[in-house]
Amino acid sequence: MLRDLTALTPETEAKVRQLLIRAEGMGLSPVVTSTYRTCAEQDAIYAQGRESPGDVATWVSGCGSWHTWGRAADILLEGAPADAYARLGELWESWGGRWGGHFDDPGHFEWHPGLEIRDLCGGPGSCQGPPWPDDRGLLGRPAVQGGLLLAVGGVLVARRLLGRPWPFQGLRRRG
Ligand SMILES: [Zn+2]
Repeated sequence: MLRDLTALTPETEAKVRQLLIRAEGMGLSPVVTSTYRTCAEQDAIYAQGRESPGDVATWVSGCGSWHTWGRAADILLEGAPADAYARLGELWESWGGRWGGHFDDPGHFEWHPGLEIRDLCGGPGSCQGPPWPDDRGLLGRPAVQGGLLLAVGGVLVARRLLGRPWPFQGLRRRG
């Protein structure tokens, strides 16, 4: 189980960072206690208070949790006034997020505008780790960027071998 914000989708990470800044601005001391979870980790939390000892800690198992899609963060506000979570929840929802206070989990903040869990989670076995295809642009992946650089370099080398050393020479002459 991770507490690292970079384990979230880029959009979710950016929004959670904004929320933390705003919380600090309110004089609160927010601590991120959970971000991305694997489905196995979510299942273990789900078992707590059901098949294993402890209090029930979650309502959903496997890919039914937005944590397993890198789209939820749990935030602890130590020593905060009673209404602090609700104030953050209201702010979060004004940006388009969903706050866990609606289902008895006030430290939980989800980011998935326009997406419902059934759009991603088709039941057991449809778990998927990062990178998530819906949020990480293809051009942002190092392998794709490396491939593009090689392709451009290859074209320049080929032109040089063919006696046309620089593709923009013609344009320069006209200037
Ligand atoms: Zn949570």
